[in-house]
Amino acid sequence: MKDVIKRLIKFRDDRNWKQFHTPNNLAKSIAIESSELLINYQFDDAYFDLDNVKDELADVMAYCLMLSDHYDFDIEKIMNDKIDKNELKYPISKAYGKANKYNKL
Ligand SMILES: [Mg+2]
Repeated sequence: MKDVIKRLIKFRDDRNWKQFHTPNNLAKSIAIESSELLINYQFDDAYFDLDNVKDELADVMAYCLMLSDHYDFDIEKIMNDKIDKNELKYPISKAYGKANKYNKL
């Protein structure tokens, strides 16, 4: 993952785009790219362009990685911390096979 982040940062810096990558803009870009991903499933989730799904998923992750890099977050740590929280919010004994939000289990 570190090599991917380095490559993303080089891509950004080679184009002098860091000035545009404020946390605010990066967070908005995550939402925008997430919407582009959803377009694949808008009217028919049986037929979609898997190559476009890959592209949009990569766009979402690129902005997530750049926002994490901005704050110098340890991605593995923040992901594991969140999974720890979710394991407490969604204990297997209550959440198994259910799609309910944690406060509706
Ligand atoms: Mg896109």
